[in-house]
Amino acid sequence: MTQLVVLATLADLRAAVAEYRRAGESVALAPTMGALHAGHLSLVEVARARAKRVIVSIFVNPTQFAPNEDFARYPRTLEQDVSLLGPAGVDAVFHPDAAGMYPQGFATSLQVGGPAKVGLEDKFRPTHFDGVATVVAKLLLQAAPDIAVFGEKDYQQLAVIRRMVADLDIPVSIVSAPTLRESDGLALSSRNAYLDARQRKFAGNLNQAMAWAAERIRGGDTIADAVRDAAASISASGFVIDYLEVRDNVTLMPVEDGRTCGLRLLAAARMGTTRLIDNIDVFALPAKG
Ligand code: AMP
Repeated sequence: MTQLVVLATLADLRAAVAEYRRAGESVALAPTMGALHAGHLSLVEVARARAKRVIVSIFVNPTQFAPNEDFARYPRTLEQDVSLLGPAGVDAVFHPDAAGMYPQGFATSLQVGGPAKVGLEDKFRPTHFDGVATVVAKLLLQAAPDIAVFGEKDYQQLAVIRRMVADLDIPVSIVSAPTLRESDGLALSSRNAYLDARQRKFAGNLNQAMAWAAERIRGGDTIADAVRDAAASISASGFVIDYLEVRDNVTLMPVEDGRTCGLRLLAAARMGTTRLIDNIDVFALPAKG
């Protein structure tokens, strides 16, 4: 296994990628904000299965946090992250600083529409996806990978990035990875570290209630009934729900009851000051015939 290198500047990243390319090697990028857990490592696995070289970027992107959000307290654990990524077979960690990504005079941002503008996260974090899209576009142009891997955990983000890459003709394949969960269903997240022991005990019910709702819809119950009962259960476990909605799984537009393909249940809920998001499949698209 090659030694993992930590690259702090764009010049270093480009030099590393140029070396891979000279050797005829394919490149995968997995963008992250660090505080890595097994969910991030599962993205690395997906990347490794598809490309010879794997780059993980670690950058807590200030432009995707609103002033009232947790940018300052977001966990930063670079040393530990690097110690996890080496044995996972990652070739390079790209860890730019904010001044490197947004130098003095930086004045260009993306404004994303489509799945970014259908409510859900956008209703509660109206500047978030423009910030995500801008930094992801930069990372894709900086590393110029063959593939980039994103988790289904951030489902609306995944849809926004797919749309952006298609709209801007960015020559990269976007690959999604399933959500890794704790045994009680709680999706692994860097933000789970904010939960105290009591909150953690109840947090799994977010996913359990969502799975129950999805099962009921698949069994023929109306979306409205299933979502209403799941919302009651989620609230009873101490969450304040921002949204819990069944949407089209590509456009993320609202859907009519009775549809039996291409549906996704998405949620955001707050436990104390910790905001968690999750989503699960209700009906996948039918296999193409
Ligand atoms: P983050 O560091 O939270 O920005 O996440 C970086 C990437 O890891 C994103 O593509 C996330 O969707 C993905 N990710 C986060 N949590 C999980 C998880 N539990 N399972 C799989 N992927 C995840």
